[in-house]
Amino acid sequence: MRTPILAANWKMHKDVGESVAFAEAFLPLVADAEGVEVVLAPPFTALASLGQAIHGSAVRLAAQNVHPEPKGAFTGEISASMLVDLGCAYAIVGHSERRALFAESDEFVARKAAALLAHGIRPIVCVGETLEQREAGRTFDLIETQLEGSLALVPHARAEEIVIAYEPVWAIGTGRTATPELAQEVHAFIRERLAKRFGDAAARVRIQYGGSVKPDNVYSLMAQPDIDGALVGGASLEPDSFARIVRFDRTGGPE
Ligand code: PEP
Repeated sequence: MRTPILAANWKMHKDVGESVAFAEAFLPLVADAEGVEVVLAPPFTALASLGQAIHGSAVRLAAQNVHPEPKGAFTGEISASMLVDLGCAYAIVGHSERRALFAESDEFVARKAAALLAHGIRPIVCVGETLEQREAGRTFDLIETQLEGSLALVPHARAEEIVIAYEPVWAIGTGRTATPELAQEVHAFIRERLAKRFGDAAARVRIQYGGSVKPDNVYSLMAQPDIDGALVGGASLEPDSFARIVRFDRTGGPE
């Protein structure tokens, strides 16, 4: 019912040449991968070239960010219509690095998501607690607040187009993955909150897990009923590693 979505977030890695070289190595590895959606989010500078390199394949292009305004005096920013120009199907918004390092609020994330939807780009909306928040028992309150704020401008009829990425901050880039059971518990909570907001459509919204996903843990994560994909940083930088993730590699076996 929900097509799994595996997305690579390259952050500030890979120039144009490296991005195109990745595509040339990666596409043959996933050419016969069926029943999954595969998304690559390179830096802005590589979007055009990577878009050409994956053209004609089933792999989709994503941006890592967007500005909510359509145009104007916003030096250094990129609008949703500019991303449409480059063929982006998705854009990541509210990544914890942007929330923490660039002070992005839920309200700002909501405006970005709305701008993307208005231009036919699907937002991947990230939420997740810090270690401090988890240890203080605030995980569910925090996730609820982030969801309410970040999805505030999503029209009911467009709910199915959004993707939620649950990314516990303590698991991002740390090698410390949430256990499948812990991740499932939060994913189920997210779906329940989505149902309160969007009704039946919540059953069709895809919820990705992110945080040190690797070929040897993807299988057990994807086996959980409410985990519909992964948002992958470090392990998406090598074609072979990300291709194994796309295939829910079983060599690590169920944990
Ligand atoms: C991310 O950047 O969204 C992420 C989950 O990174 P990593 O896979 O490296 O933890």
